[in-house]
Amino acid sequence: MSGIKARLDAISAIINYKPSHAPLNFSETKPTEVFGCNVFNDKVMRERLPKDVYKSLKKTIELGQKLDPSIADTVANAMKDWAIERGATHFTHVFYPLTGLTAEKHDAFLVPDGKGGAVAEFSGKMLIQGEPDASSFPSGGLRTTFEARGYTAWDVTSPAYILENPNGTFLCIPTAFVSWTGEALDKKTPLLRSNQALNKQAQRILKLFGVQTKLPVVSYAGPEQEYFLIDRNFVFSRPDLLIAGRTLFGAKSAKGQEFEDQYFGVIPRRVLAFMMEVERELYKLGVPVKTRHNEVAPSQFEIAPIFEAGNLATDHNQMVMTVLRTVAKRYGLMCLLHEKPFAGINGSGKHLNYSIGSAELGSLFDPGDTPHENAQFLVFCAAAIRAVHKFSALLRATVATPSNDHRLGANEAPPAIMSVYLGEQLADVFEQIKKGKVEGSKQKGIMNIGVDTLPPLPMDPGDRNRTSPFAFTGNRFEFRAVGSCQSIAGSQVALNTMMAESLDYIATKLEAATAGDPAKLNAAVQSVIQEIIKAHDAVVFNGDGYSEEWHAEAEKRGLPNLKTTPDALPVLTSPEVVKLFTTYGVFSEAELASRKEIYLEQYVKTIQTEAALVVRMAKTIIFPAAMRYQGELAATCANLKAIGHDFKMTTLECVTAKLRDLQAKVAEFEKLLEHSAEDTLAEAKFMCCTVLPAMLEIRAVADALEAVVADDLWSLPSYQEMLFIR
Ligand code: ADP
Ligand code: MG
Repeated sequence: MSGIKARLDAISAIINYKPSHAPLNFSETKPTEVFGCNVFNDKVMRERLPKDVYKSLKKTIELGQKLDPSIADTVANAMKDWAIERGATHFTHVFYPLTGLTAEKHDAFLVPDGKGGAVAEFSGKMLIQGEPDASSFPSGGLRTTFEARGYTAWDVTSPAYILENPNGTFLCIPTAFVSWTGEALDKKTPLLRSNQALNKQAQRILKLFGVQTKLPVVSYAGPEQEYFLIDRNFVFSRPDLLIAGRTLFGAKSAKGQEFEDQYFGVIPRRVLAFMMEVERELYKLGVPVKTRHNEVAPSQFEIAPIFEAGNLATDHNQMVMTVLRTVAKRYGLMCLLHEKPFAGINGSGKHLNYSIGSAELGSLFDPGDTPHENAQFLVFCAAAIRAVHKFSALLRATVATPSNDHRLGANEAPPAIMSVYLGEQLADVFEQIKKGKVEGSKQKGIMNIGVDTLPPLPMDPGDRNRTSPFAFTGNRFEFRAVGSCQSIAGSQVALNTMMAESLDYIATKLEAATAGDPAKLNAAVQSVIQEIIKAHDAVVFNGDGYSEEWHAEAEKRGLPNLKTTPDALPVLTSPEVVKLFTTYGVFSEAELASRKEIYLEQYVKTIQTEAALVVRMAKTIIFPAAMRYQGELAATCANLKAIGHDFKMTTLECVTAKLRDLQAKVAEFEKLLEHSAEDTLAEAKFMCCTVLPAMLEIRAVADALEAVVADDLWSLPSYQEMLFIR
């Protein structure tokens, strides 16, 4: 299919769309029965494992104790029987390489029995460890190809599950992916390490407050996932959407999002049907999806689960993205997870609601009811403020991707400057502590922890500041800079480790000041919080993060403003960041260097691909359409002249001038692309500062042509059609 016919066929396919299968029926099978039915969860384990094995496994899952390898065979066997009963023929270790995607390699359970038959086999060793060929995954210099082996190691804390396909099912085992020398090649390993570091330091603080707890402190995450849905038929005539996931050309639609009639609006029928099936699939996998609604831009939507322990939430978010993509196809739709599929309307993010705590303690960012609990809350909160101030550049680097660059700082997402929003009341509490004297008496308006009764702290800061990248929302922080197609692992790894460093700092101070005497705790806490606020409240900002004034003010306060990915990624190997991660055993220096290299490489490759698409589309789609129109105009003019009309050939001249311009710009652009730089960073900078702006210039001419060329000659589906025909 090509040209205008494809465009018309797409529209007609949408108009005549009929669902290919019967509607879901939750009254036949209750959602409660569906939930977790494909997960090797606690209930299944208790039923199927011998008591001692179950108990031992539970200890590893809940308390983070080392896995006893002697139980692996028993667990593997139970898992295999369960999976085979549910139709599985294969198993796979699932892992999360640095591409940000989910990777799997399937193996059959069946092995020949040597007598002409076959038996199903799945040993403890196969459960615990796999050996995918790692050479095709990015390693950023961590591995040379002759030692290309990596191995996957069972992550006991994320349950195994079954994925369905129309032709069968298979067992999936979440794993960490490491090289033979033990370096992390994935997103999961550092996350697990960072949780250990966080727990160790958080426990020191809790101990000072006399809190007894069995369970480890972990990060919690609730990612709100935004996405676009457009009819799939359009994608086949848009090479940019198909290959790059975003439109590289396209004139603005007459109507965009300015009517604000989309947000929380009635969900279109087909989209709702899609959402229901997505939810059902996710329920089966035990993903606790909760919220669905329209988002701000036309054809933009959101799905959010109930928060879970960070590691599990991360795996679940990967599943959410996969399920969104696959189910969309069944409904004739394409799910776009790119951060900026369409220019001129909002892009998509993934607000990462982040807290730390445990099932026993709840969120440690939750103010309590008593002054004592409040004091503990203020310590954790002060730690977060200090962490974001000290490592704001790192936090920014964790959301640096070519696609997210289009969003950050574009007055629709938080700016690239990292700041903390506390809400008026909490900001005021810290302000007063800052002013107060440590041993000071009860002056009015000055707070002394444990001496004054702190005012009831905000459960919900009421007004929602949408422009802050890191906003306190009552019992958690909402990190709003994460991109919609990113893994949420990276930001959590940074947050956990930054928190560990701050808690370590505070615990060391408090331990020294109290010297084992709990009576001295309040004064010590007062003093350390005061000191932290004095040193770090530059990062606190409660105003409008989009405003010009804030950019100027932030600069005065010395807050980094790393506008683009090539600005931000070098932070990963800066001395402070290397020290942070190596001190807490989360990343080695080599692992950090590899990440910087891989992400820079991904940046370069992404823009190279887009640049190639721009050239190809300009030459083979846009130029020919405009030239045909030019021909028509020229013929009309000639005819009119022939019958004696005298007139100005305005449109013809306009099209001709733009065509010339387009041709010249594309030729120039192709020359530009011959450039080669000495290293990846230089190449990335070139892409950022030279290639991207040049792409936009070509786009401007092409979009202007779209606005004048006869619509029936234009073969690219328009913004109007893609965004408003459902
Ligand atoms: P909003 O759009 O108002 O920010 P949503 O309901 O869409 O809120 O999403 C809020 C997310 O925050 C949900 O995933 C929710 O489960 C999660 N959340 C709530 N409490 C916590 C917490 N203590 N830690 C982490 N995430 C949390
Ligand atoms: Mg929301």
